[in-house]
Amino acid sequence: MRAARAQGVTDPRVLEALRAVRRASFVPRELRNEVGYDCAIPIGRAQTTSQPSLIGLMIEALELGPEDTVLEVGTGHGYQAALLAKLARRVFSVERISELAQVARLNLSAQGVSNVEVVTGDGTLGLPGFAPFGGIVVAAAFLRVPAPLAAQLTPGGKLVMPVGNGGGDLVKVFEKHDSELVELRVLCGARFVPLLGANGFEVG
Ligand code: SAH
Repeated sequence: MRAARAQGVTDPRVLEALRAVRRASFVPRELRNEVGYDCAIPIGRAQTTSQPSLIGLMIEALELGPEDTVLEVGTGHGYQAALLAKLARRVFSVERISELAQVARLNLSAQGVSNVEVVTGDGTLGLPGFAPFGGIVVAAAFLRVPAPLAAQLTPGGKLVMPVGNGGGDLVKVFEKHDSELVELRVLCGARFVPLLGANGFEVG
């Protein structure tokens, strides 16, 4: 929380969400004593959960309202989804690794989070059945925004995504203007895992 503020998070709703959601409930049991540090933590299957200050900056940039429906691509163990659940009315989160999606469902329900739907699948396709979304956040990096995600964003809505090859990425904020996605700014540099899928890197 202090780290998030130091990194420039100012939105009181986001700071309150960071205070209220226990990160320890969303990392593997044996790494729970690491949660006090503002560092990334491995969650298994070669994936990581980012440091809370970075997640805070990314979700603040979505500028969500309490009535919004939001899409997250890359659920992991569900930490960011739990934060989003406090800021939006409904959260859809897609995870390609079913084992992680299942852990996220259990973690979220253990914390009493009831407005998040975790879907196993390829998030680079979005979720056309539940679109449009007032905001979209992608937790893995690719060279460009997958076209279906741009298409499923409400006009005026923000999309936040690390752009790069997964390793040295720029977290960018985009906004939908009419039917076009416009890049607004670079939020920060970061290292993300690669976005794998039909509109991402090829699954090897
Ligand atoms: N949001 C998580 C961090 C997830 S790490 C948190 O709050 O801790 C990134 C996740 O993206 C990984 O779990 C990885 O499996 C997932 N991922 C990568 N490509 C994906 C895709 N095309 N669709 C859905 N999930 C994807």
